[in-house]
Amino acid sequence: MVVVAQMGSVVCSLDAELGWGFHDLEPLPTERVEAGRRGWSTMLELCEEFDIPATWAVVGHLMLEGCDGVHEDHPAPDGWFERERTDWWDRPDLRFGRDLVDDLLQSSVDHEFASHSFSHVLFGAPSTDRELAVAELECSLEIADQWGQHVDSFIYPRNDVGHRDVLAEFGLNAYRGTSPTYDGVRGLFDSTVRDQTMLVEPTVDEYGLVNVPASMFLFGFEGPARTVAESIWQDPMVLQAKRGIDEAVRNDGLFHMWLHPNNLTHPRDDHRMRAILEYLSRRRAETDLTVETMGDVARRVRVPRGVDGGTVAADGGIMGDN
Ligand SMILES: [Zn+2]
Ligand SMILES: [Zn+2]
Repeated sequence: MVVVAQMGSVVCSLDAELGWGFHDLEPLPTERVEAGRRGWSTMLELCEEFDIPATWAVVGHLMLEGCDGVHEDHPAPDGWFERERTDWWDRPDLRFGRDLVDDLLQSSVDHEFASHSFSHVLFGAPSTDRELAVAELECSLEIADQWGQHVDSFIYPRNDVGHRDVLAEFGLNAYRGTSPTYDGVRGLFDSTVRDQTMLVEPTVDEYGLVNVPASMFLFGFEGPARTVAESIWQDPMVLQAKRGIDEAVRNDGLFHMWLHPNNLTHPRDDHRMRAILEYLSRRRAETDLTVETMGDVARRVRVPRGVDGGTVAADGGIMGDN
């Protein structure tokens, strides 16, 4: 019995955060911090050029018009917003991004607007209690609502999954779960040499949320190893992404790739993304492959449940024969 009739599909998700992905880090990875805006615009352009709808998980704070850097009503631990009041007080371009969110919403491509929390709180951290998780959701959904946006999907900051019950309580449908494949060199080895699959299986958890796990982080193989590899072969991440896309076509499965816009720090990163999206667009034209958002996946996974005899497994996963 096949529960979810499925053609091959590819999801691309982006963690759109500008400075918020780094505000709690010391020292700051300056190159990444400064690349957030250019990467955002470049990814929007590439998605438009190849007509690839993606899930853009946006940090809610970016959508504020301004703030005092204190956020007194927010239950975050003392010091959480400190960078706003100090180093980044004169860097509104890292703290706010209404122009970029506008560009996203006005894109000719039907992107999914999703949430990446309000201030990049780590949901799985022991110090993140329920009250903080609720506040992050509340603030994000409130600002989204002011922008006329409904939120279906959530991407956990640093993929730190936690407080899933809170997501469900706020009416979300989907989140991106962690990848079964290692990032970087180890993942490359597992998928190429050991021929380990890069397809993932969306499952429904005990709260009714659909976990759309990541297959592959597109920038997990960086630094000197990347430079050496690229001087000998093609960009290994492009090769691996192509394998994932081809596997989705061949086995009618789901391949889910993800990145941060701020991973596009150099032209060679733009080239990587162009090569991957161009290939995806070509394979979609040649086959019955579809490109979906996380929200699309959640809708098709949830609908068949109980309608055509779909069964929810004891561990919350959807059971099927493949
Ligand atoms: Zn603020
Ligand atoms: Zn993030």
